[in-house]
Amino acid sequence: MPPPADVLASRLAAARRRAHTPDHDGLLLSSPVSLRYLFGVPSSAGIAVLGPDVSTVIVDARYLEAFQAAALPAVEVVEVPVGRTYEAAACGAVAAQGLRRVGVEADTLTIARLGALRGAVAAPVEFVETHGLVAALRAVKDSWELAVFREAGRRLSAVAACILPKVSDGCSEREIAWEIEMALHDAGFDGPAFEPIVASGPNGARPHHRAGDRVIRNGDLVVVDFGGRLDGYAVDMTRTVAVGHIDAERRSWLQAVGEAQRAAIAAAAPGVAPSEVDRAARRALAGRDMAEAFVHSTGHGLGLEVHERPWIAPRGDADGRLEAGMVFTVEPGVYYPGRGGVRIEDDVVVTVAGVECLTSAPPAFEAHES
Ligand code: ZN
Ligand code: ZN
Repeated sequence: MPPPADVLASRLAAARRRAHTPDHDGLLLSSPVSLRYLFGVPSSAGIAVLGPDVSTVIVDARYLEAFQAAALPAVEVVEVPVGRTYEAAACGAVAAQGLRRVGVEADTLTIARLGALRGAVAAPVEFVETHGLVAALRAVKDSWELAVFREAGRRLSAVAACILPKVSDGCSEREIAWEIEMALHDAGFDGPAFEPIVASGPNGARPHHRAGDRVIRNGDLVVVDFGGRLDGYAVDMTRTVAVGHIDAERRSWLQAVGEAQRAAIAAAAPGVAPSEVDRAARRALAGRDMAEAFVHSTGHGLGLEVHERPWIAPRGDADGRLEAGMVFTVEPGVYYPGRGGVRIEDDVVVTVAGVECLTSAPPAFEAHES
């Protein structure tokens, strides 16, 4: 389901307010994620020119009908005919709107495309770099998005409940990965948000190991990281399964990472710097002498992208403080090369008082000896 028209209209109004600043009088958006967020249509190509009075969306025949169907007020949809370039059509819209200084998305616009725009535009129009204007809007979810996230979190938790008991002695990583893909499909997700990670035994020491042919054995820890997309929005969850009898050292990893995750979740609230949440996880692991085994950041924002703002990292404060409505993962881990690893990941939304967890499953999942 695309977002309702009133939700899209208020997103577009917020983007238009940001289009007009002392630095630029309009905005040219070319990233499919920005277009999907503002117009509700998934596409692989398209350019939007946001001016003070009107927005022009330029698409080719593949997406024309979908963008027209969105029928947003003060939005005109223009088809770029075969034989004309997107850049030329976009510059036509810039001229028609009388814009002089147009912000472009420096984080996603290629140098080649910027060159093409500059080649197609008539003087005295200038293109100026902007950074993350739409991404900043996307970081704080509206109530429609939060409803999608709650439903997606419920469904992903159900997938966890179905999958984790299947992680057992004798299965290969690849078999579990396929079970995950099927369970995501059966749960009604649009599809996986990323290729599932199933990292057993020593493979667990590599945070982004992909599922391979290794056969899971009793005594293994198995890091299972999986996510789905619902209405375009990604949710993401990890559990580490203890298969059969695991030794005391591995058991201590599980306990420590569980504590670190609880500490980070407890630290998260509106007004808190993302680095504070990261520090809470690191401090808990340092208390058990495991800080050096935690080799990545504590979490990442979720939305139309699997990794987006806010960055829950030691240096994640560039975009400010946590705000109610932000959705992100909390996923501390420890990794010991040659031996294995543990990661536990849940998704949370910042509320007025703290956070609400969107996903749930037993944090240290124990599969019985088979
Ligand atoms: Zn994950
Ligand atoms: Zn994640």
